[in-house]
Amino acid sequence: MSVLRQLLIFTLSAAVLSSCSTSSAELMSDSTVFSQPWISGLHENEPPLQAQQYDSNTVVIRQSLRTSFEAPFIYLVFGEEKALLIDTGAGGVDLRSMVDLQIEAWLEKTGRDKISLVVMHSHAHGDHVAGDEQFTDRADTVIVGHGAEDVADFFQIDSWPNGNEAFDLGGRIVDIIPTPGHHDTHVMVYDRSTRLLFSGDMLYPGRLYFQCGKADLFRSSIDRIAEFTNTRDVSWILGAHIELALKPGKSFNSNNVVRTDERLLEMTPATITDVKSALLQMGDRLRVESYDNFILFPHPADPRGKKPPNWCLSQDSAN
Ligand SMILES: [Zn+2]
Repeated sequence: MSVLRQLLIFTLSAAVLSSCSTSSAELMSDSTVFSQPWISGLHENEPPLQAQQYDSNTVVIRQSLRTSFEAPFIYLVFGEEKALLIDTGAGGVDLRSMVDLQIEAWLEKTGRDKISLVVMHSHAHGDHVAGDEQFTDRADTVIVGHGAEDVADFFQIDSWPNGNEAFDLGGRIVDIIPTPGHHDTHVMVYDRSTRLLFSGDMLYPGRLYFQCGKADLFRSSIDRIAEFTNTRDVSWILGAHIELALKPGKSFNSNNVVRTDERLLEMTPATITDVKSALLQMGDRLRVESYDNFILFPHPADPRGKKPPNWCLSQDSAN
């Protein structure tokens, strides 16, 4: 993503983290959701992108650690009239061909001759938008802009970030939920048909980053998603990265491009309330703190010269 994030991850490896238990984590190594393990840099010749179906209308793509330490997850969701691509990855790989291949296979399977494509982003950090340019010349394709205003305009969200809006893919409706905090443009996407929540970088098995000065924004977004999901079923939360190992307390950083025993991608809906209570418990004493299924990672905008876990508490770190 950014030099800043790489710096943060390097700094973290030297930090001592306290560990809190918020729930009894079931650390399963075999997924009940995906048939294959995700590529995790283990094989030198692993493909740059791996696609797996969640179901026949939902494809999950992972970018190889061998091509970017961010190894982001990208989602392709098919309705009857539109396909929605959530994120375009960290760049340096041919995502366009992979997406075209998936779309062709879907068209063949469903006996259709075309479907339009909407390219949107969980947020505008580099590791989620870098593949955009591959889609600019694609026919029947719209790429949502990178600013919060662009996102609000496209999805017709009147009161950003407090409103949310349904987006109809044709027989399949997703809800776009503004969740700034990790980044000002962040949204989560809830799919009413599979009840999947695509949670970007706000919720995933890893470091939940937010600037010291954005803690209230981050907290409000977690509260908002908690409220949204209160009245809806969530089957799984699918985020944009994996940074935790199966072993409790062990995490991977940007040096680890070969990762054995990664945690599963999918998280249970209980994670939302776990993050909410962890933030509540932390209050205004912002610090890096490790929990069973995530790490709260408040950080100064400029971490140089400061060290976690208490680097938000020093003066002049509030932005
Ligand atoms: Zn990211």
